[in-house]
Amino acid sequence: MNTNQILKDLQNIVGKEFATNSPEDLYIYSQDPGASLPRPVDFVVMPKTIEEVQKIVKLANEEKIPLVPMGGGLTLSGLIIPVRGGIVLDMKRMNQIIEINELSRYALIEPGVSTGQLLAYLNEHHPDLQPAIPDAPPSATIAGNVLIHGSGYLSQKYGDHGAMVNGLEVVLASGEVARLGSCAVSDYWFARGPIPDLVGLFLSSFGTMGIVTKLSVQIFPKPKFREIVFGLMKDEENIPKLLLEITTKEFIEDVILGKQDKPEWLKGYIFFMVYITGDSQEDIDAKLKILKKTYRKNGARYMKATQKMIDLYIEKPIFASGPADFRKGGGFEYVGANMPLEKIPEAYRRGAEISRKYGIPPTLGSRLIGQTHNIVMFFSYSFNRADPDDMQNTRNALEETNHLVLELGGIPWKGELGAQKLVLKKMDPNYKKLFFNIRQMLDPNGIMNPGNWSEEEN
Ligand SMILES: Cc1cc2nc3c(=O)[nH]c(=O)nc-3n(C[C@H](O)[C@H](O)[C@H](O)COP(=O)(O)OP(=O)(O)OC[C@H]3O[C@@H](n4cnc5c(N)ncnc54)[C@H](O)[C@@H]3O)c2cc1C
Repeated sequence: MNTNQILKDLQNIVGKEFATNSPEDLYIYSQDPGASLPRPVDFVVMPKTIEEVQKIVKLANEEKIPLVPMGGGLTLSGLIIPVRGGIVLDMKRMNQIIEINELSRYALIEPGVSTGQLLAYLNEHHPDLQPAIPDAPPSATIAGNVLIHGSGYLSQKYGDHGAMVNGLEVVLASGEVARLGSCAVSDYWFARGPIPDLVGLFLSSFGTMGIVTKLSVQIFPKPKFREIVFGLMKDEENIPKLLLEITTKEFIEDVILGKQDKPEWLKGYIFFMVYITGDSQEDIDAKLKILKKTYRKNGARYMKATQKMIDLYIEKPIFASGPADFRKGGGFEYVGANMPLEKIPEAYRRGAEISRKYGIPPTLGSRLIGQTHNIVMFFSYSFNRADPDDMQNTRNALEETNHLVLELGGIPWKGELGAQKLVLKKMDPNYKKLFFNIRQMLDPNGIMNPGNWSEEEN
């Protein structure tokens, strides 16, 4: 590779300031906040327009250099660390909110739009509408999140965030631009069909199918009143029954459960948070009564949310990021898994056993997706980044958890390289063949994030 020439070419495309190969710039792109090992990066480039993306892709193809698209880089599972080196395509400069369609309720945006940006924009300009966003830091991009089938507080009601994608504009490995969804036929980005649905190919494929340069995501009416109802229960065996019953009530927006050894007062309990919505305070009060009854019937206790609990769970959630603070040098990574409801009690029990085996305080959680059609389960492990043995310990715990998830009939979500390999191993061979064939057809030179969804040694 003629490094100097490639840098010059990249700088000619995006401008001198936005393409680099200096070690001090590359350093941060060689790693992410999770437990994956760092890997070398050759170039970082920040395009502003689709034409620039096309030129970069064509250059990468001519030179056969890997290309890794990146949003906020916050998956924790190392998905934006280039496996085979090459160019990291940092999309943050493509951050225009192009259109908010209030009637068909979608936002047409560029891929660098962050979750915080869209939320703030809607709050200011369309206060009756809300986006579906994850509990991730606000610098996470909407694109990066929907492209990995993310989920958030609207998921129990409307499904995972991948399901909320109405359409995509993508630059393929050839440099051609394709529009997928209703936007392929119409000026409106209102739905994925009714034509063969190719959007799905770009979800959870981790940048191996193309670069997304525009996307339409559904937005939703904002409820007038919302209340969070806490509850506690002792026995995880009661979880499925309770969840089935709660979700028959149409006013439930979000359901999150968790079990963790810290703080001490939570030890031994399953805690849950149920978000209810309504049109007035009287409406909420009536629904609260119904919910309390459902709790009692299923061996659970209702708890009035104190300010301390709201601070702990809502303002500074320990549920996901808090475990990082339990140990010095803190960081954390979790195995996220999509699981069937029937296996959730066993997942809690055996997940806690794995944590204890590796000397990490159990921190387990789950969120309902689309009623109980799917549950996202979190097995979270905190680590001290300054201690290599501790990091390896965490990687071992993650690996064992991936095995557990697959054994229980679940599927690791946004899995790190090791998890992707385990999934491929268990996958129906013809599904795998179809996927690899499509990929080969779209990207014959194998430049699109190679090493991901691959059976080859990395
Ligand atoms: C504290 C914490 C809490 C979290 N809570 C949640 C949660 O509640 N729900 C949830 O879903 N997630 C959660 N996450 C995980 C993750 O942060 C989010 O899913 C996040 O939205 C990912 O977005 P990103 O911009 O960081 O994506 P990135 O990591 O940048 O990218 C994700 C994937 O998409 C690909 N990609 C990115 N942009 C493009 C593009 N333009 N074209 C093609 N491919 C692209 C990347 O190559 C990568 O494979 C959490 C993470 C943290 C650290």
